Amino acid sequence: MSEPSVARSLDHPNVQLQCRCSWSGLDADITDWDVQPKRDRVVRKCPDCGEPVPEWGTLRPIDGASRIARGSLADALAEAGYLERNGV
Ligand SMILES: [Zn+2]
Repeated sequence: MSEPSVARSLDHPNVQLQCRCSWSGLDADITDWDVQPKRDRVVRKCPDCGEPVPEWGTLRPIDGASRIARGSLADALAEAGYLERNGV
């Protein structure tokens, strides 16, 4: 088993992520987010095993994340009640 990791490359616009389940891909592939109000943070979930992986970087506080949220992150925050869908 490999530990989750993040690799950045100077000549690549995306961030390469690796999960402990052996999934690897780009940050742009992440469509699932785990909103964790208790820790006031949002964590990326692995598309393969569905586990939240804080090692990939967390967004905090949730308030701040909801201000910049777009796409799948905005959907996740809306589902958790932090964001109005298509909202103001
Ligand atoms: Zn995984």
